[in-house]
Amino acid sequence: MTSAISSALEAVRLRLAAAEAAAGRAPGSVRLLAVSKTFPCDAIREAYAAGQRAFGENYVQELQAKGAELAGLDIQWHFIGPLQSNKTRPVAELAHWVHSVERLKIAERLSDQRPAALPPLNVCLQVNVSGEASKSGCAPEEAVELAQAITALPRLRLRGLMCIPEPTADPARLAGQLALLRQLRDQLVAQGLELDTLSMGMSSDLDLAVREGSTLVRVGTAIFGSRPYPA
Ligand SMILES: *Cc1c(COP(=O)(O)O)cnc(C)c1O
Repeated sequence: MTSAISSALEAVRLRLAAAEAAAGRAPGSVRLLAVSKTFPCDAIREAYAAGQRAFGENYVQELQAKGAELAGLDIQWHFIGPLQSNKTRPVAELAHWVHSVERLKIAERLSDQRPAALPPLNVCLQVNVSGEASKSGCAPEEAVELAQAITALPRLRLRGLMCIPEPTADPARLAGQLALLRQLRDQLVAQGLELDTLSMGMSSDLDLAVREGSTLVRVGTAIFGSRPYPA
C-alpha cells in the first residue's frame, strides 16, 4: 500500500522535474529538502521509506528529539529555523547543514562547537531579500562581507545563500526577490568563493524558484500536509 506521504512526495518529485525541464535545467540539478517540522517521526519514516534522505527542521528541541529517535536511519538533517546564540551547540553537533546563518556571532559559535570528529558543517547565509523588518536574514548589502568572514571559519563550509521571500501573490515581485539572491551568489562566486547552493523555493513557489536558479527547494506542506500552528 502506498501512503499519503509517499504519493505526495512522488507528486513533488514530478513537479520538480517538470520545473527543471521548463527552466532548461538539467534533471536532478535541484535537490529536494523535505521540511518535517511539527510532523511526527512516523511521517519522516514514511518519507524515508519512499527514498527521501534530507529533512529540514526549524526548532532546536524538535531536531534533538527526532535526531535521537531516528538515530538508526541515514538521515541528513538540515536546520532551517531562526537560531539563537545560546542554542547553537546541539545544532553544531547534530545537523549536517544550517541554512539560517545570518550573523557572524552565530557562525563563530557553530564553528567553535562543531565536533572535531565530524566533517565541517555545511552552512548557507540567509539574506533578507524582501527588506521586511520582521524577516530574518542579513541585509543584502552585508552579504558579501559576512560571506567572506564565514568562509574563514575553520569548521564551517559556506555552501551558498538562502532566502524566504515575502509572501505575495505578485509573481513579478517574488521573482525579483529570488533573482536578487541569485545575483548576490553570482557576485560572491565572481570574487572567488566556491558556492554551489541557492536554497530557495517552498511548496507555493518552487517552480518559480527553479526558474530563478534554485539548487535546493525546501518543501513541507506539499509533502506532509498542512501544519497545525506550533504552540
Ligand atoms: C516551514 C518552512 C519551509 C516549508 O514551507 P512549506 O510552505 O510548508 O513548503 C521552508 N523553509 C523554511 C525556512 C520554513 O520555515
